[in-house]
Amino acid sequence: MPYNFRQRYAIFLASIFCVVFPSTSIAACAESDKACLKEAQRKHPVAQAAFWQAQLAKPFEQRIGAAPAELVDYVLLDNMLSGFPERPKIPSITAEFRRDIDTAMAEIPQAIRRALERRLAGIYLVQGLGGSGYTDRFSSADGKPAGAYIVLDVDVLSARKANEWATWKERTPFKPNNNTTLMATIETPENDTRKNAIQYILLHEIGHVLAIGQSIHPPWWENFKGENLSQYPFASLSWQFSKQTGKFVSNYEENFWLRPKVVYYLGAKLNANHAEMGYAQLEATNFPTLYAATNPFDDFAESFVTYVHTVMMKKPFEVAIQRNGKTVKRFGSCWETERCKQKRVLIEELLKEF
Ligand SMILES: [Zn+2]
Repeated sequence: MPYNFRQRYAIFLASIFCVVFPSTSIAACAESDKACLKEAQRKHPVAQAAFWQAQLAKPFEQRIGAAPAELVDYVLLDNMLSGFPERPKIPSITAEFRRDIDTAMAEIPQAIRRALERRLAGIYLVQGLGGSGYTDRFSSADGKPAGAYIVLDVDVLSARKANEWATWKERTPFKPNNNTTLMATIETPENDTRKNAIQYILLHEIGHVLAIGQSIHPPWWENFKGENLSQYPFASLSWQFSKQTGKFVSNYEENFWLRPKVVYYLGAKLNANHAEMGYAQLEATNFPTLYAATNPFDDFAESFVTYVHTVMMKKPFEVAIQRNGKTVKRFGSCWETERCKQKRVLIEELLKEF
């Protein structure tokens, strides 16, 4: 879904649709007036590099905290534009939560933290984001992307430890049934903490941040019109663009025919008894996770997080499917296997450039 695309791990959708005006009144658009909302976002201070200049000059630890009012306003516009019912607000943050974010960031490999120094204006917390994490870019006066920021939802992240969060996320494409269950493991039992859930979510968002200004995939904030995808070496390993439908399609549609029904967060389209087949089909592709197979942008973010998590940080990754109490399928990291080799080469080249 390249248009109105948001880089976020989404969660919990209710159906409240009404006219809402942003509380800080930077813009007043009816929720149905997409053109007004888009224009308000484009002109918004948060979308301009000047707004973030002072933040970027600070040491990284000082770029983490409650979202400023302008950013809350911007996220509200984004929620209205994308039909998310949540209304974000400035949160209060406990010392423990703040410490979890600081530790999660401090533990990621130094090469990645270095790469973020001049690209990431900060990690900001809100309540009512409409997702676990969200990333957007801002532009310099000439319209070129100049950096990015990450927004996290305090309430969503307060509630779950790493494996619980990963299991919840990987279950969302499947309607539950009594015979089949799916469990995801991204941490050993002793490291199964909230801090490590936050770290994994952050690494996915950091993947989006580091993709900005690179030729990994087309910019998610522009309408891709089907120009040659081969100028994006990473995306073209897995994707084509259909000018007829205006959608990205994978290079594997014939054998991975369940893929178009893989929908995360916004309502399951697959039955739980499709999980085993879905993961078997996925293993015949170069997608590292099922979520990676949903679009070229999350393909890279998921590749990045699973590569950093399993190869660089040597942490576990497994999705296990059980039927009637028996494990019928195990899906693990692809980074040591032939199927993800070309993507691994490109990720390693990118990391060397930082
Ligand atoms: Zn994403």
